Amino acid sequence: MDKYRVKQGQTINLEDWDANEISLFPEGKKAAKDKTKKLNKKLEALQELLYAEHKQKVLVVLQALDTGGKDGTIRAVFEGVNPAGVKVASFKVPTAIESDHDFLWRIHQHTPGKGEIVIFNRSHYEDVLVVRVHNLVDKDIWKKRYDHINNFEKMLTDEGATIIKIFLHISKDEQKERLQERWDVPEKNWKFSSGDLKERALWDEYQKAYEDVLEKTSTDYAPWYIIPANRNWYRNYLISSILVKKLESLNMEYPLPEDGLDNIEIE
Ligand code: ADP
Repeated sequence: MDKYRVKQGQTINLEDWDANEISLFPEGKKAAKDKTKKLNKKLEALQELLYAEHKQKVLVVLQALDTGGKDGTIRAVFEGVNPAGVKVASFKVPTAIESDHDFLWRIHQHTPGKGEIVIFNRSHYEDVLVVRVHNLVDKDIWKKRYDHINNFEKMLTDEGATIIKIFLHISKDEQKERLQERWDVPEKNWKFSSGDLKERALWDEYQKAYEDVLEKTSTDYAPWYIIPANRNWYRNYLISSILVKKLESLNMEYPLPEDGLDNIEIE
């Protein structure tokens, strides 16, 4: 999976990253789906262990352009995982009270506690993406945010969090097809908004803003992964694999039973 991890300080040109590629699973869709099901089972067991051990905290940051597949990823990758130990925090346009505070204020209260996995569906990165592309605050302000973000994430990891950041990378053609589908399929119409077309017109600006995010905020302690996401099955397989590997590396253990239970008999 290292292939998709952005190394600290690496220069990123998203045109060099093929959103269609499936090199780690050339066997194709059916085999990948079977494998992802097995990974789901593993993730389910690892989440149970994380919850029981009550030491580690896991934060998954999911970012993508419109139609990038954030919702589908959450549904597929966390299928079967006990909802009691997993939370999704979705970040929309800030409310009036959120806007009155610094950009991390609303974020911090949703970071995971011990034993929890939290998935950020959008995140503090919107404050250097949509905010930058639409000039919602002055450049002087947003350009300092990369450092603020790195410091914030360092603090979270120093305090015991594991952070995995996922960028779902789709191509412009793929976005066109997905928007068209939202328009054509009645059950998907609700997802279509004219705003999506305005955002699509800013495709190049968003690519540039994402490149800066990936270059400036992929660190050893909180790395970004650029996931080729034109094919949902490959995307799901990769993300499930990354999460399972990461959780396995935490060397978690079930807590020992309390002392003095050896002679207990349950009648
Ligand atoms: P999603 O597209 O994530 O499924 P929505 O359609 O409700 O959900 O879109 C959420 C919107 O909120 C997006 O357009 C996103 O850019 C916007 N948003 C999120 N965070 C911020 C922010 N900090 N400042 C401005 N807009 C934001």
